[in-house]
Amino acid sequence: MRVPLRQSVPVLATALVSTGAVGLLSGAAVDTAAPSAAATLPSAAAADIPTPEEYFGFPMGAEGKLAAYPDVLDYMQLIADESDRVDYEDIGPTTMGNDYATVLISSPDNLENIDRLVEINQQLSDPRNTSPEAARELAAEGVPFYHLEATIHSSEVGNGQAINDIVHRLATEDSDFTEKVLTNSVIVLVPSQNPDGQHLIVDHFNETAGTDYERTYPDLYHKYTGHDDNRDWTMFTQVEAQYRLELEKKYRPAVVHIMHQQGNTGERIFVPPYGGINSENVPVNMTNAVSAIGQHAARALGAEGMTGVLRDDYHIFWTLEQPVGFFPFTGSGVYLTEIASVTDYAYPQKSDDGSPLGPQQSRTNFIEPYRSDTWTLADIVDYAEVATYAGMEYTADNGEKLLYDNLYAVPHEYMTQGVPSGTYAFVVDADQRDPFATYEMLERLEWTQVEIHRATSGFTAGGESHPAGSYVILMKQPRGNWAHQVLGSDDYPEVRDCSECPVLLPYAEATTSLPLELGVDVDEIADPFEADLELVESVEVPEVTMPEAPAPGGAYLVRPESYGTIQIVSALQADNIPTFRVAEEFTDGGVVYPAGSYVVPATPQARNTLGQASTDVGIPVAATDTPPAAPGLQLKPGTRVGLLRGIGNMPGGWDMWLFDQYGINYKVVRAQDYEHRSLNELYDTIVISSGVDKEDIVEGLDPDEYSEKYAWAYGVGQQGWAKLRQFVRRGGTLLAVGESSETAQELLDLPITDVMPDDEDEFVSAGSLLRNEFDPTHPVSWGQPAEWPVWFYDTGFFEVTDPAADVVASYPEENVLASGYLRGEEHIAGTANVVSFDVGRGTAVVYGSEVTFRTLPREQFTLLYNAIYNGPAQEVEATELRQLRSQFGRN
Ligand SMILES: [Zn+2]
Repeated sequence: MRVPLRQSVPVLATALVSTGAVGLLSGAAVDTAAPSAAATLPSAAAADIPTPEEYFGFPMGAEGKLAAYPDVLDYMQLIADESDRVDYEDIGPTTMGNDYATVLISSPDNLENIDRLVEINQQLSDPRNTSPEAARELAAEGVPFYHLEATIHSSEVGNGQAINDIVHRLATEDSDFTEKVLTNSVIVLVPSQNPDGQHLIVDHFNETAGTDYERTYPDLYHKYTGHDDNRDWTMFTQVEAQYRLELEKKYRPAVVHIMHQQGNTGERIFVPPYGGINSENVPVNMTNAVSAIGQHAARALGAEGMTGVLRDDYHIFWTLEQPVGFFPFTGSGVYLTEIASVTDYAYPQKSDDGSPLGPQQSRTNFIEPYRSDTWTLADIVDYAEVATYAGMEYTADNGEKLLYDNLYAVPHEYMTQGVPSGTYAFVVDADQRDPFATYEMLERLEWTQVEIHRATSGFTAGGESHPAGSYVILMKQPRGNWAHQVLGSDDYPEVRDCSECPVLLPYAEATTSLPLELGVDVDEIADPFEADLELVESVEVPEVTMPEAPAPGGAYLVRPESYGTIQIVSALQADNIPTFRVAEEFTDGGVVYPAGSYVVPATPQARNTLGQASTDVGIPVAATDTPPAAPGLQLKPGTRVGLLRGIGNMPGGWDMWLFDQYGINYKVVRAQDYEHRSLNELYDTIVISSGVDKEDIVEGLDPDEYSEKYAWAYGVGQQGWAKLRQFVRRGGTLLAVGESSETAQELLDLPITDVMPDDEDEFVSAGSLLRNEFDPTHPVSWGQPAEWPVWFYDTGFFEVTDPAADVVASYPEENVLASGYLRGEEHIAGTANVVSFDVGRGTAVVYGSEVTFRTLPREQFTLLYNAIYNGPAQEVEATELRQLRSQFGRN
């Protein structure tokens, strides 16, 4: 029998003991057994706090009803105003300007004493300055913090409803359970990790009520990331991810409860322990603590007759890019719950034939199958509440142990024992191809509190000499395992549950390697070495200063290797400053410049723009009195870029972030654009994001299902498809990333064959970095090294059937895997990845690998923006570059 946990009733502690009810469910259990006899009067403050039902007008979990996020925040603020157990804090604005907030819940004493409790957590997390003996005392004095993240995936709406009941109960109920939780822990509730999505989803749901339109929101529920919002834990690109990181660093939660919902065909709820392959970097203490919480929750759910509980699944502890990231490495126990979803967010799921929902075979990790044929929003709310109360109870009951074993012992172990691989340090040479990439990598280490040292003189490590100024990241430090996780390369093992079973893949990617993704040369050093090191106080963009202005007719020179040059080019484009690229290597002032170097006629305006842009990214600018005498390109001023991103398509969202971040002048291509005579009137270059296929373009969204508001994503029919083809033939540049290379192939009949084998076991790779060889003389790969790994995620690799096509990047004949996992190397070895084609008067480039994947493989951004600007550029002769002298004679 289901217990109505949504209404919490104050109860007497003695009644609980005598009925033998599970403590955490006390309110509900007693409510069922003896509806009113055991209730005590609520406190005076509690009397002024309306129940969620009174406040919202319906009980949480009511069919077809969703409390809107702003109303939830108002409710939390109201409770905070009325209750001395609750504090509300506004953290800051989200990407779209909504409020990101936290709600602290604890006993009035604890909230009054919150600064001291936070300080204790900080000291525990700092083994550099806290001895084991002192830590024991601190653990006894402090209480664990329970970070409760109600929602990150905004379509998973049930948990965000349940928190209203949870906060109401904790604020108003006087029971053994609430007293224990409030006295022995501090709850840090994040009502939503993605408030923007909460708005988008619920607003759409409410706007479509009573219409024939689809109730589910069709587009990304975060401006840039959509469902990928929990896959941002190494680069922290989004402001919401940065807020989460700051909360982690501020409060040092012993337990982090992340609430999710899963699909609706499987088990009703997942709780830890996790399954799959563990990274050796993941701390043992943390894993054990989370498994114990999960077991406690499973028993609590069982005691309430809540069946369909799955454990020992979700293979999340390999790369940790998703869904947990940094948390476990600080000692926070990550407690993930995944509850089955319903129909259209808030309507019952019913099986068609009356059979029960989900798997029906009992197993040791799935003891009691769910036997009903119906699953409702109220069920989600009930399961969420019981699983949360169980997590809170475990935390309150085991505070001292969690504080010592997790918060203190985890970083202390890293600091004293180093990492399991025995690696001594990583060395980042001062002398890098891409100083901006080096800065971005070090900055992420700094954000995650990794200690970075700099050598004050040259030294030898790993048999090689490294110059003064090189960075050293020692592994024996409180964040050692995290540093090892993100700096090292990965070798994912091939494991199967049985000989016929598929390879056991990680939940997300098989690698997390910042150096390989960003393009930084890093050496992993096994053995200790001597070096004069100083602690880096703060990571800064490299300082650059503009050179003296050259003589009249001179020019400024910028090397092309760094992806930071995108920002320089964008600034030059925005200010309409003539910009050339030299197609050949040349020498100036004794320095060799590679093909693709930028030459900017030295006007005062150019100087201003370059001065600012180069300072922003730390890329130096040189000056020459005699611009190189070699042929090249003149970029088209104000190049117009279109992005075919696909509605609800995550790679398209990330591409928007990338373009916004780097200042690219772009517009999202809309269905209305195809009403123009030609797309060439609007765009010079069109980028098709990975995942956009012909059907997305031709059929698009159905106008019967989605209102005019989404007209930009309606289909453009065969006529539109033909216009896209014409766009290239008439001189446009079309760039197709990842999966969309197939779309471009279909559109333009490109002479390539995708050679991925059909047999899924013959070729397997789950988000890995694979080596590529580049042709640095080709305009698409100008600035690239001869060799570097690319991001590969099961998309295309090609045989090229027309010798006229230019292979820009290809996989080597052997030794293809750089980091991650690859099975079936022989299928991909020697094939083409990036290929450029002349089509009519235009150009098409396909990128088989995902060069913009979640904006991680930044080293490869150059491949994309080279083509964005070089496609529409005008070829110039050597003499024309020379004529800069007369053309821009005064500076
Ligand atoms: Zn989710």
